[in-house]
Amino acid sequence: MFHSITLCLDMKGCPNRCRHCWMGWGPNGDIPEEDLAAAAADFAPFAESLELHDWDREPDYSDRYRERWELCRRLSGPRPHPPHFELASVWRLVRDGSYAPWLAGMGVEAVQLTLFGGEEITDWYTGRKGAYREILRAIEILLQNGIAPRIQAFASKRNLSELSQVEALMETLDLDRRCREIGREFACFVHQGSCDGKNMAFYDEWVTPEDLEQIPDRLAAGTLKHFQAKTLLDVFGQTEGELCRQLLADGSTASYVSDDPVFFIDSGYDVYPNISTPSPLWRLGNWKRDGARAVLDAYAASRSPAQHARLTVPLNQMARSGGAPDSRRLFGREDYITLLLHRHCAASGALTH
Ligand code: SF4
Repeated sequence: MFHSITLCLDMKGCPNRCRHCWMGWGPNGDIPEEDLAAAAADFAPFAESLELHDWDREPDYSDRYRERWELCRRLSGPRPHPPHFELASVWRLVRDGSYAPWLAGMGVEAVQLTLFGGEEITDWYTGRKGAYREILRAIEILLQNGIAPRIQAFASKRNLSELSQVEALMETLDLDRRCREIGREFACFVHQGSCDGKNMAFYDEWVTPEDLEQIPDRLAAGTLKHFQAKTLLDVFGQTEGELCRQLLADGSTASYVSDDPVFFIDSGYDVYPNISTPSPLWRLGNWKRDGARAVLDAYAASRSPAQHARLTVPLNQMARSGGAPDSRRLFGREDYITLLLHRHCAASGALTH
């Protein structure tokens, strides 16, 4: 019996194909609404409390987002369903005039929006022409509805010089003042994301310590505040070389099994723990074919290839075979261990199974 289980069904997918997406580019499906109740009924007996979500990529992408929100709330419990995340669908914000008022009515005070620089590069990273202009319109719609836009920027060597355009936009739109006027505080931050899923393709362009000096002042200050950090290095982590040296001296293994697991269920009903990109490395089974009990048994026994590797292969072994001791790329320690795990499993052929 788990303390809690959170299920996130990728019922509708995502309108974007972001080049940095850690969730990957699975197909957009159309999971029938009745599967929410079926999943809740199947998993609930194994946890003291269940939390259900109808998305794991773009929130509220379905036209029936309100009904699904209510359904997820009703089917969750006995602990109360949490409030709406400070994540929303930009796609819907600019197409559905009743969406922002609905978010505001549910108490959403801020919504996170992602920029990479100016129009061209933001469209390129988001994988959709017009994405930048939609973000600009979404900012206005949010402010009109009393919701603060929170700007997230990603940094790699490719777009570092573009970050000044993000800062210029924040100033041009006077977001500090306008958020204050609606009783909110404007927040912004920059980070590199995890080297996972699609973002792994940017490994060669990954930020190194000297790149951090190029982060514009307002964005840097917002980053320190957002992460409650003293320096940008505290946010961006250590160099791969430093991490390799530490891990070469670390013979530990670990279990990813938690008493409060979160599971992604993709459009084909395959189930993955929320640790890294949903991929064959983390696949626990298929909910429709195998049922909740078998999926949870696989999780608890660390039977997905990546869980098994983390439980049985010492870090120093993974660092020896997959680490790059001369690399100055910056990673958080846990993100780097996940990257090593991916390299280890890929080398052992687990990705092709
Ligand atoms: S990063 Fe988010 S919005 Fe972009 S493709 Fe991935 S899930 Fe969709």
